Amino acid sequence: MKKTIILTALLGALVLVSYGQSVTLYNTNIVDVENGKIIPGMTVSVKDGIITKIAKAKKKIKRNQTDYTGAYLMPGLIDSHTHWGNFTMTPEYMRDMAESYIADGVTTVRDAGGDVRIVKRYEAKLDSGNIVEPSVYTSSFWAGPKYYGGRARQDTRGYETVNAPWSQEITDSTSLEHLEKIIIEAKVYGCTGLKLYNDISYDMLKKIVPLCHKHGVKPWGHFAIFPATAMDVVKAGVETVSHTYLIDGKEGFTSEFKAKCFSQAEIERRDSIFREMARLGTILDATIKICMTNNMEFAARYTNEAYRAGVKIAAGTDWVYMEGDRMKSAFLDELDLLADSCGMSIPDVLRAATTVGAEIIGQAGRLGVIRKGAEADLLVLKSNPLESLKALRQRIALYLDGKEVK
Ligand SMILES: [Zn+2]
Repeated sequence: MKKTIILTALLGALVLVSYGQSVTLYNTNIVDVENGKIIPGMTVSVKDGIITKIAKAKKKIKRNQTDYTGAYLMPGLIDSHTHWGNFTMTPEYMRDMAESYIADGVTTVRDAGGDVRIVKRYEAKLDSGNIVEPSVYTSSFWAGPKYYGGRARQDTRGYETVNAPWSQEITDSTSLEHLEKIIIEAKVYGCTGLKLYNDISYDMLKKIVPLCHKHGVKPWGHFAIFPATAMDVVKAGVETVSHTYLIDGKEGFTSEFKAKCFSQAEIERRDSIFREMARLGTILDATIKICMTNNMEFAARYTNEAYRAGVKIAAGTDWVYMEGDRMKSAFLDELDLLADSCGMSIPDVLRAATTVGAEIIGQAGRLGVIRKGAEADLLVLKSNPLESLKALRQRIALYLDGKEVK
């Protein structure tokens, strides 16, 4: 098969190497993240970015197959909380961010609110073959008037109206018809979810969530949306809630509350919310690394409470940081913290980073798993990640849509 180099345009940029349309990964150990086990000695065929066949490896490798004997193959990782299209971002910043994510093995991100025009502009470059980046699933960002407070709207600057498909101010009196109209607008614009952020009431959430379901848009929100409390957000059916630390609402930020947050009464109050989440299947996007960096260690203990109550937990970072003068993804650090500080088992941390992330963005079975018909976003690792998360830091290869990224 003819070997083609798709891009080398940017010096020092990631290079996507394609060996024609298909690639076959010979004799690898598949990491079955769903069942937390290894399926040894398998050959995985990929065509046009999709896994087309998985079979027991033959005794001898064929020509054109890539030998991964002894290596471990796992699905690409999913960051369930990023801000990809931030209005402050320059193209250089976007490229740095993309490269730092790819370096961590992240092949998909959920953008939890930003200027989707920037994401689209960047994707256009991607189509031109100059840039490699994770797949981005975008949100339309919604908040009430108290949040906007008359400030100039940065994320819609330059657009024909103050509100835009990716950013909407709503009030308690926004009509059902208008809500439906702007949900459809968000969907048509390419947003896969709504980020329900601030100053939205329980009554409004109860109107918004069914409309999301009707139109196939994912309802995502902050854990507390003020005035809607954490329990309101869960009961309204918001599918994914972000930031464990918000469970206490505004009171949680006071020193009086901090002194009693691990009292029996408060533990039980949180537990009633976590149990409701476990019952409804609400996913907790915990965002631990950013809390630990801001002296909010209690968030890790809260997340452990959620975990023990049976809540499904996702891996979201909500940030990238600077290492020297380069952007650095916090994703692998987030996974380490979910294990070490939140007490999650390694198989559950791997699920948080794959299958749970896929469920959040409505791509269960297509992303975050290695199976026939799934997208070929793949990591080839030297050692078994089910034994140690350190394995994620020792990568042999990464495939994005079936193409190797060098
Ligand atoms: Zn965020």
